[in-house]
Formats: sequence, C-alpha cells, structure tokens
Amino acid sequence: MIKGKIIKGIAGFYYVYTTLGLVECKAKGIFRKEGIKPLVGDDVEIEVIDEDLLKGNIVDILDRKNTIIRPSSANVDQAMIIFAITHPVPNYNLLDRFLISMGQQNIPCVICFNKVDIATPSEIEELRNAYEGCGYRVLFVSASLEEGLDDIRNELKGKTTVVAGPSGVGKSSIVNALYPEANMETGDISKKIERGKHTTRHAELFALSSDTFIMDTPGFTSLYLKDIECTALTGYYPEFTHYEPYCRFSLCSHIKEPDCGIKKALSEGKISNIRYENYVEIYEELKQAKKY
Ligand code: GDP
Ligand code: ZN
Repeated sequence: MIKGKIIKGIAGFYYVYTTLGLVECKAKGIFRKEGIKPLVGDDVEIEVIDEDLLKGNIVDILDRKNTIIRPSSANVDQAMIIFAITHPVPNYNLLDRFLISMGQQNIPCVICFNKVDIATPSEIEELRNAYEGCGYRVLFVSASLEEGLDDIRNELKGKTTVVAGPSGVGKSSIVNALYPEANMETGDISKKIERGKHTTRHAELFALSSDTFIMDTPGFTSLYLKDIECTALTGYYPEFTHYEPYCRFSLCSHIKEPDCGIKKALSEGKISNIRYENYVEIYEELKQAKKY
C-alpha cells in the first residue's frame, strides 16, 4: 500500500501522483456504497496492482482538510488570484467578490498583480495600499519580463493552490513560466473561448514538485455571491474593523448613516476608494437579493 494524491479524474479513473509515478486507479466499490466520491486533491492510499503499467486501486481516502465546490476539489490550502494591473482594465469588484467567496470557504488568498512592466508606479502603489492594507499577501509580477516569479514560487511552495483570474490577465503565461510542461495556450482570448466551449473542463492538479500543486481554473467574468447577508459583508473588509467603533450607530451600514467611522476614514485616505466602492456595490446587491 502506498500513499498519493489524486491529481485528476476522468470517466471513473483517478490519476494518483505517487513516488512511483502517476498511477491510474479505480475506486473500489466501497466508496460508492458509502456515497463518497473521490475528489481531485484527495490524499489517498492505493494498492498498486501492476507496477509496470502503473495501475492500481484506491483503497482509502484520508481525512479531508476541506472541500471546495467550484472547482470541485479537496485539501486546497490557498487560492492565488491573478489580475492585470492594466490591460485589460481591472474589474476590482470581481476581485473583491473572489476574495469574499474564498473567505466564505476559509481559503486564504494571495493576490498576484501581473503586467508591472506596463503599469505606472502610482497604479502599483494604489493597489498595494488597497490590498496589503486589508491583510492579503500581494505580489507584483511580470510574466513577460519573468519578474517576480520566485516570489510566486515561494508562496506556492509545499501547498496546494487554486489559481484563478479573469481572461487576458496573463494566467496562462504565468503558469507556463512556472511549469513549462503545462503547455497552456496563451494569447488570443477569442480562440481560447471558442475552444473552451467544446471541451469539458475537469479539475486537474499540476505537480510543481512532490509537495507543491497548482490547480488552474477557467477564466471567469462574473461571480455571484450567495449565502451571505449584507450586514455580514463588513466581516470581509477587515480594514474596516479598526474604524467601526467610531460609527454613531452600532448597526451602521457605512453608506448613508451620519457620523460613520468608515466614511471618515475614507475621506482621510485611510481606507481605499477602490475597496469602499466595491463594498457599497456588493452591499446593495446583497440587500436586493434578500428581498426576493
Ligand atoms: P490568460 O487569458 O489570463 O491566460 O492570459 P495570457 O497568458 O493568454 O495572456 C494574455 C495576454 O497578455 C497575452 O497577449 C500575453 O502576451 C500578455 N501578457 C501576459 N503577461 C504579461 C506581462 O507580464 N506583461 C505584458 N505587458 N503582457 C503580458
Ligand atoms: Zn459606519
């Protein structure tokens, strides 16, 4: 019996990364009976039935640290969200939604801003202030110049990381630079989208080393938040916490109320405009959603 990690599952077969290599496994009937389906990311115990052809059976799934729904997977340590500082024009609201969604699932996030080579110093500073100020690890990199790639490797080391980002931000370029064997298509978005329509995307882990895995996810353009009350939203804006005691009302939404500590901090430049505007937009959306 040896241990390994499921890195992909296709049509009833699970591919388990082990010290012997990638072993093609079937899951024994027992899982089906117990209603447990192996997931990509599962740490498993397998019996190898053919060492030459690398075939085996999964006999046990080790306790899961967590599971996430999209992409369906287990034992994710963190998410790395990649955004371009410019080109395409960044949708920070989408970034915040992603951070909130990961926060709901207790998945820590690292933010990676790509394309520093075409950004201005003031654009970089604005983002650094906005996102480092709320406690995220923030990296500034350039896939084109291969700048900052070691910082990314350091963040990923020894962990399983979901890598996400909208199309065009340079995600494929970064994954390819980190992991040339991944051989991901870069560049022409319309072609990629066209192809994406015709292929089913499976969750799949790429091994960067024996203990470091990344999972690529399809580029997304929207993210709908659910199971969150508008009044709970401030919990996902940790940089607000310090100023909330200064609000006159204890249930202040920080939008229309007078004597609001958050709006005061905003006017003094202590809270980022980008973050506050996103907060208001998402708050209104969650409030509307509650009515129906
Ligand atoms: P993806 O859709 O996020 O996977 O993005 P791609 O990796 O396909 O890159 C989209 C476009 O951005 C391509 O034309 C890349 O050449 C370009 N690109 C990627 N990284 C950088 C970068 O660091 N700087 C600049 N200027 N362009 C980049
Ligand atoms: Zn307030």
